[in-house]
Amino acid sequence: MTTTTSTRTSARTGTAYLIRGGSLLGRGVEDLLVRDGRIAAVGSAAASGAPQDAVTIDADGLVVLPGMVDLHTHLREPGREDAETVETGSRAAALGGFTAVHAMANSSPVADTAGVVEQVYRLGLASGWVEVRPVGAVTVGLGGERLAELGAMAESRAGVRVFSDDGICVSDPVLMRRALEYVKAFDGVIAQHAQEPRLTEGAQMNEGDVSAVLGLAGWPAVAEESIIARDVLLAQHVGSRLHVCHVSTAGSVEIIRWAKARGIDVTAEVTPHHLLLTDELVRSYDPVYKVNPPLRTPDDVTALRAALADGTIDAVGTDHAPHPSEHKECEWAQAAMGMTGLETALSVVQHAMVDTGLLDWEGFARVTSVTPARIGRLGHQGRPLAAGEPANLILVDPAARWTVDPTTMATKGRNSPFRGLQLPGSVRATFYAGHATVLDGRLATPRPVPAADEEAPAWNL
Ligand SMILES: [Zn+2]
Repeated sequence: MTTTTSTRTSARTGTAYLIRGGSLLGRGVEDLLVRDGRIAAVGSAAASGAPQDAVTIDADGLVVLPGMVDLHTHLREPGREDAETVETGSRAAALGGFTAVHAMANSSPVADTAGVVEQVYRLGLASGWVEVRPVGAVTVGLGGERLAELGAMAESRAGVRVFSDDGICVSDPVLMRRALEYVKAFDGVIAQHAQEPRLTEGAQMNEGDVSAVLGLAGWPAVAEESIIARDVLLAQHVGSRLHVCHVSTAGSVEIIRWAKARGIDVTAEVTPHHLLLTDELVRSYDPVYKVNPPLRTPDDVTALRAALADGTIDAVGTDHAPHPSEHKECEWAQAAMGMTGLETALSVVQHAMVDTGLLDWEGFARVTSVTPARIGRLGHQGRPLAAGEPANLILVDPAARWTVDPTTMATKGRNSPFRGLQLPGSVRATFYAGHATVLDGRLATPRPVPAADEEAPAWNL
């Protein structure tokens, strides 16, 4: 990709971009004009409608996709700025091809009030690299005892629609039922971290042949599957919307498939690492492979890929979980759980799903952008690549090959389980609300802070 720079127009209207010769969703080759935050024209009208000072981008050989939307990102701010900040995490997101991320609630303080979610939302606007949508906690302080102020968070400037105690399961069935009932009033969704706590006390890795050999306490598949089975029945009972975070077992896939066949309003996500890695890696005792839910078996990986391809699993969620080095570079038993993922997600999903023929690029866009935007109720994301639509899009070079080196990443986290791996696909450009946040594979400039009247309410459906 080469970029021809010319004079910038005023900051208010922003630069116009004429993207030439990209393959839209991996199909037909069309030109595309980005102007004033929108896709102004597609096809022959793009070049003829481009202003004189438009920046021309040669997208020959590149695929044009809607910007990726992550339902599951840990940005760690407020409270753990040594691990990540909204600024560093959203830079990583833009470089990874995301135009929106959902910031998980397990910060310090927990995002369980309108005040904290508005703080995270404002930090996102100030950074300007991606749309940052805070996730609200389901229970006060993630304590699992009292519902948080769900309505106040929904009505706040942050417009929260996704609620989760992620990291901890809402294991009390009465509380889970109340939460599902409560969010119906504002079309919210409860995103459950499915982990029966009593079945996973002290768990260190997947329960199976490898844990038996290593003598590490196991995290059995049934601890995930039993909560999902309970929750889909609860969602059916109260007629509400349930989202299952990071599905990791073949049995979970079967339960979700059963629930969908019965018309239950359930959606599910899978992480890139669960689509590629298995518990065999734990034999190294390298804590970079310690994660919750744990890496599972090859049969689970096969089932998860098939489920993402056939729509049983709706979306990819990174569960990007940066940790300071001292929390990962220690003995297995003491190490924190979690892996980074924003800057490798596209490549891992291309490798596991596209290059294997399980998904085409349109399918890739469905699971990384269109469907997660719909689940999170982000009206301006995951839209068609058509004239008049908001310009949240990326240019991807599917033929590129690169070797993962966490020390060169924008995230503060160095805990990538893909380090040293050669992966396909690279993000050459990212456009967020018409602003080029990434050009030539490098950070460009953030979106200017919008005027108050352009903020959240207009950005929601
Ligand atoms: Zn989780």
